[in-house]
Amino acid sequence: MSQRQLNLAGGHSIPYTLKVSANRRTIGLRVDASGLTVHIPQRIPQHTVESLLQDKSDWITRKLAEWQDRPQVFEWRDGATLQHLGQDILLSLRQDAKSRAVEFDGTRLYVALPRPDDTATVQRKVAQWYIKQARADFTRRIELLAAKLGVPTPPVYLSSARTRWGSCNSKGEIRLHWRLIQAPPHIIHYVVAHELAHLKEMNHSPKFWAWVEKLCPDFKLARQELKALSAQLHLV
Ligand SMILES: [Zn+2]
Repeated sequence: MSQRQLNLAGGHSIPYTLKVSANRRTIGLRVDASGLTVHIPQRIPQHTVESLLQDKSDWITRKLAEWQDRPQVFEWRDGATLQHLGQDILLSLRQDAKSRAVEFDGTRLYVALPRPDDTATVQRKVAQWYIKQARADFTRRIELLAAKLGVPTPPVYLSSARTRWGSCNSKGEIRLHWRLIQAPPHIIHYVVAHELAHLKEMNHSPKFWAWVEKLCPDFKLARQELKALSAQLHLV
């Protein structure tokens, strides 16, 4: 699986996920809430994929627009698919006399409570679990990248600001949105790199972007992917 980018005439570009599978014979396109996914057989040259995507670009653009316009609501039911670090995880919802601590085995998230149809409580329990994961994951990434940048590890806070994924204030405090923990690791990496680079440059000047690039060479693609992913990350 890899992240690619389709460049269209007029400077517009569409990020997509490329998945190679051994038992496919044809190229398949799928557009859903997570954007465009292209399934290809093994040993297909990239230019063949590119020209097919160019041919289908009107269809792709229309489908992506349809998804973006769709009013989406997450269904908190047993078997629902959640995201954690870009991986699908299954919500396992069951009734229990007591409200239990949420458990995760790598593929399933177990939520047990007296009333599994009480959506607000289920949502709160899952959010608390995400927040715990986010705190651990973001702290580790900040430490690693701060060392790489040669700055002291700044204090990190979690946020739930609706409009931004991360911020860095003049005191050098970094805030990251807990919902980012649903995103693939390279996207989180980009947001962390972006906020840390503000410790060097408190603006979005070319100097600033040079620091970002140092920490995250694929930052342009990651930024676009994050944009495409934003609505989905806010769903849960
Ligand atoms: Zn910024």
